[in-house]
Amino acid sequence: MSSRKAIGVDLGGTKMLVGVMDDQQQVLHVSRERSRGLTEDEILAALEEELREAHDRFPDVVGAGLGIPCTIDQKRGVAISAVNLPIIDLPIRDLLRERSGLPISIDNDANTAALAEHLYGAAKGIDDAILLTIGTGIGGGVIIGGKVYRGAIGAAGELGHVVVDENGPPCQGNCPNHGCVETMASGMAISRKGKAAAEKHPSSALGKALADGTWDGGRTVTDAAQAGDEVARQVVATAGRHLGVALSSLANIFNPGVIVIGGGVSAVGDLLLQPAREELSSRALKPMNTTPVVVAQAGEDAGMVGAAAMALIDAESGG
Ligand SMILES: [Zn+2]
Repeated sequence: MSSRKAIGVDLGGTKMLVGVMDDQQQVLHVSRERSRGLTEDEILAALEEELREAHDRFPDVVGAGLGIPCTIDQKRGVAISAVNLPIIDLPIRDLLRERSGLPISIDNDANTAALAEHLYGAAKGIDDAILLTIGTGIGGGVIIGGKVYRGAIGAAGELGHVVVDENGPPCQGNCPNHGCVETMASGMAISRKGKAAAEKHPSSALGKALADGTWDGGRTVTDAAQAGDEVARQVVATAGRHLGVALSSLANIFNPGVIVIGGGVSAVGDLLLQPAREELSSRALKPMNTTPVVVAQAGEDAGMVGAAAMALIDAESGG
């Protein structure tokens, strides 16, 4: 019997990654398309085209899964609101089902990444796990009993909006809160604090990057930290401590077997994670204070791979 295949789509704010994966985790087809600057209609048209192309090449796919940077209403199949894409209350599941003729599964992109980590990555074999993806913002996914936890409507897992300072800076996008961990430990936060540090320490690597116009946001700070710049290291360590405060709450609530940290900022590794582990260790209740905190392993394609895996799982369960 041949292996079962599904299409996976990671719809990001700048690009969409489309792949076909089989149930042996072999990725058979990958396509990248720009998504930045597209209208809602153009995004739908691009998705329809990508699905058709993948379906034509692999007529035996069992369905398609989409990871979307958006809060999701699972029952109605609606993408409710996104920060980085012009999507509001879009019934994307039914629209794409009609246009492609394929069964469509949708979820938040951090949830599909969490599923990929659980099936193939750093949380493999661990049925209760948490993933935080730290990029511009902070996304989250919760695995409970080997399944993605979606909550009453399907919008659960917004772990970036755990508050670590109730009087902290206003949060980003549609979040009305203050002092969410996203405002304290995301790439955006690291960039903001790095800039302040650069102005205070003009002779540091950060100060020079700001002065010579090569500043590239949080990446400048994490790169300088990895290269040994002490000012940058302090900024990253402070973000790591804020992250650890959030992790101590999450560990107390979920008692996960592992906390996985993914996203672009996680490439800085222990410079961020060690201070986070120390906060977790000193703040969480026993035995949750020993929860392992590790870097994600499912790779850059995790969102797409997890989306395809979701479609395979849904096809299996008749969903
Ligand atoms: Zn928030």
